[in-house]
Amino acid sequence: MEVIEQVSALRAIVGALRCGGKRIGFVPTMGALHEGHLQLLRASTRENDITICSVFVNPTQFNNASDYKLYPRTLEHDISLLQTVGCNYLFAPSAEEIYPQQSVLQFSFGALEAVMEGEHRPGHFNGVATVVSKLFHVVQPHKAYFGQKDLQQVAIVRQLVQALSFDLELVCFPTVREADGLAMSSRNKRLSDAQRQLAPQLYKALQLAAAELQQKPIETIKNELAQQLHQSSEIRLEYFEVVDALTLQPLEKISGQDEVALCIAAFVGEVRLIDNMLVNLKES
Ligand code: AMP
Repeated sequence: MEVIEQVSALRAIVGALRCGGKRIGFVPTMGALHEGHLQLLRASTRENDITICSVFVNPTQFNNASDYKLYPRTLEHDISLLQTVGCNYLFAPSAEEIYPQQSVLQFSFGALEAVMEGEHRPGHFNGVATVVSKLFHVVQPHKAYFGQKDLQQVAIVRQLVQALSFDLELVCFPTVREADGLAMSSRNKRLSDAQRQLAPQLYKALQLAAAELQQKPIETIKNELAQQLHQSSEIRLEYFEVVDALTLQPLEKISGQDEVALCIAAFVGEVRLIDNMLVNLKES
């Protein structure tokens, strides 16, 4: 695997690969890789001739300076993991390489960014859209791989691809979890042992809410879920929403949806975690 730090070097490689008719799969990440990332990389190596992974902790998508500073950075370990899954190129640029000038570009995603992560992390999706656009332009993938763990991000990137006519296919894979249900996340590394014991409560709350969805009003489920989580003083719920699985708009009651998503964001200690679960109402 070759490690590339410069945009110009990657452009030259991608140009030659595309001229040679190679199909390129791309997995954008912020590093501190885990099994959630690795399933995307394995899918990419299966489905494409060449796989490019990026590891870039993108400053413009952090609305909290300490979250950016404390975000785990484990590049040497990432490189060894990437070698085990057959990744061909790792793009690991500096912030200056991606942002030679400060970006003032503004994206707007309408209703999609007015809720949940968009509402609670001002500027977050603008930073995501900026960096994903830049990376798509440089990497020029045929397929790009994302995780359902960041459900709203997938919807934003889908809208971005359509709006800007990126010539690529988006592929989304389910959330990979630890044995106790906690969604794998680079931020889990920041949890203390005691907080790590508490963190699966988020997934347990989603499971309970899913089981009660057809029996109780959404408002009641929300209140019960908040009460249950706040039994621990280390957990601070930021939001829990039942949303339409296609539009991601919050619902006050279920009315004819085939599928909904249950989405949660909560602080466990100082660490902000998100999770979600899709619920197919036709089957239940
Ligand atoms: P990140 O490095 O957290 O920005 O994530 C990079 C990509 O991996 C994104 O598309 C995420 O949605 C995806 N991802 C992160 N964690 C998981 C997980 N537990 N399961 C599936 N995909 C994930």
